[in-house]
Amino acid sequence: MRTDREIEIIDTPDERPRPKKPKKKKSTNRLILNTTIAFTVLFMGMLAYFVHFEYSDADEVINSTYNKRQDILAQSVIRGDIKAANGEVLATTNVNGDGSETRTYPYGRLFSHVVGYTSNGKSGIELFYNFKLLTSNSGLFELMYNDLTGNKDKGDNVVTTLNVSVQQAASSALGGNDGAIIAIDPDTGKIIAMVSQPDFDPNSIESDWDYIVSQDGNTSLLNRATNGLYPPGSTFKVFTLLEYMHEHPSDYANYMFECNGSLTVGDSSIKCYNGNVHGTESLMDSFAYSCNSSFSNIGLSLNLSNFRKMCEGLLFNSKLPYDMTYSKSSFELNSSSDTFETMQTVIGQGKTQVSPLHLAMIASAIANDGTLMKPYLVDHIENYENKNVKQYKPEKYKELLSKEDSKHLSEYMKAVVDYGTGKRLASDAYTAYGKTGTAQFDSSENSHSLFMGYADNGSKKLAICVVMEEMPAGSTWAVPAAKTVFDTYFSH
Ligand SMILES: [Zn+2]
Repeated sequence: MRTDREIEIIDTPDERPRPKKPKKKKSTNRLILNTTIAFTVLFMGMLAYFVHFEYSDADEVINSTYNKRQDILAQSVIRGDIKAANGEVLATTNVNGDGSETRTYPYGRLFSHVVGYTSNGKSGIELFYNFKLLTSNSGLFELMYNDLTGNKDKGDNVVTTLNVSVQQAASSALGGNDGAIIAIDPDTGKIIAMVSQPDFDPNSIESDWDYIVSQDGNTSLLNRATNGLYPPGSTFKVFTLLEYMHEHPSDYANYMFECNGSLTVGDSSIKCYNGNVHGTESLMDSFAYSCNSSFSNIGLSLNLSNFRKMCEGLLFNSKLPYDMTYSKSSFELNSSSDTFETMQTVIGQGKTQVSPLHLAMIASAIANDGTLMKPYLVDHIENYENKNVKQYKPEKYKELLSKEDSKHLSEYMKAVVDYGTGKRLASDAYTAYGKTGTAQFDSSENSHSLFMGYADNGSKKLAICVVMEEMPAGSTWAVPAAKTVFDTYFSH
C-alpha cells in the first residue's frame, strides 16, 4: 500500500514535500488523493498492458493468420531486414517520400525462393518469420514515444545462416538449368545455400504475378530444394547398400558379381547405364561404378519388409525435421512387391520420390557420424540497431544412423570419388564423398542428373544435394556443380 506521503511526492513535479495543509481542507485533499490514485492505477495498468503486449501477446497476435491485428501491426511497424550470415542485406524496406513502403531485394533472383516475397501472399523466410520482422525490440521508451507521436516502429532483422558466395556459386553451377542445390553444414544443421531454378525476381513479383500464374506449367514459384520430388536414381543405392550391409554384417565385403551389362530375371531386365559392362566387381566396385545389374541382383536378395522399415527410419514416408514448407518423400516397395518393381526400386527408379532437402539430410547425417542436426535457416534475430535479441542454436534431431553405418557408407562414398563416377570431385583442398545418380523420369530415357554427398577439409564440412533436371549422367553434370559449390565453400 502506498502512504499518503508517497502519493504526494508522485503528484508533485519538483518532488518537494508539500507544506502541511490546513485541517479544514481535508475533504478536498481526500478528493485529490483519490483522483491521483485512480490515475496512477490507470497509468500503471496501461503501462503494464503495453509492456505485456509488446513483449508477449504480440507473438500470438501476429502469428494468428485470422487476426486482423496482424495487418494493423504491419501498419505500425516498418518491416525488418532479412540478412545473410555476414550481415549483407537480402531484403529491406525503403520508405518513400510519401510514406509508402517498397520491399526490395538487393540480390534480385539469387535468393528468391529461400527469402521469399511479400506481395500476393508471402513465402519463404518472409512468411515464416513474418512475426519477427513485424516485432520491434527497439526499447520500451522508443516504442512508447513512437506510439504517442504516431511514428512507425522499426521491425527486427532476421539474420540467416546463408552464405552469399556459396549461394552465388550454387546458382551459377545450375547454369540456367531447372533444378535445385541445397548445402548444409552437417555439424550444426545450418543451411548454407538453397537455390531453386527456374526462379523469379521478388522485386517485380507484384507486376509479374498475373503472368506467372496464368502460364500453364510455370513452376518458377516452386522451391524445388524443399518441395520438388524426384526419382532418386542411383543416389538411392546408398539405401540399398546399407540394407545389404545390415543383412550381411560380417561378410558384405566378400560380395562379388560378374556384370555383363544387364541382368534378366524371368521377364524383367535391368541394363547398366549407357551400355557399360562392368565385368568382375566387388560390392565397393558395384557402388563406385554404379552398376545397375549388380544392385538389382543385391536388391532381389533383400528382406523387403526390413528394407522398407530401414527406409522409413531414414525419413521416407515420414515428416522431416524442418520448420518451413517441404514435400514428404515416398517409398512404396513392400514385401509383396514383384520382381520388376524390386529391381527398379533398388536402383532408384520405380515409384520412389525424394526431395533434395531429404537427400541433403541423409548426406549430412552420414557426414556427422550418423547424427542428423535439424536443418535451419535463421541464426538470430536482432533489433534495428543490430543488437541480438534471440539466438537460435544447433539442435540435434536424432541418431539417424549408427556411427559404424555412417563410417562404412563414407568409405563407399569415398570410393565413388577415388575411382568411380564421382572422380571429378578430386581436390587437394578437401576430401569428397558421395553418390551420383541419373534418374530416368519417362519411358523415352530422359533423365535428371543428381549428386548427394559431402566434403571435409579437416576443420569444416559441407553436405550437398544437386538435382539438374532433364540432363544426362550425374557424373558429368551434377558432380561438377557440386564441385563448384565445394570449391567456393572451402576457399573461404
Ligand atoms: Zn554393370
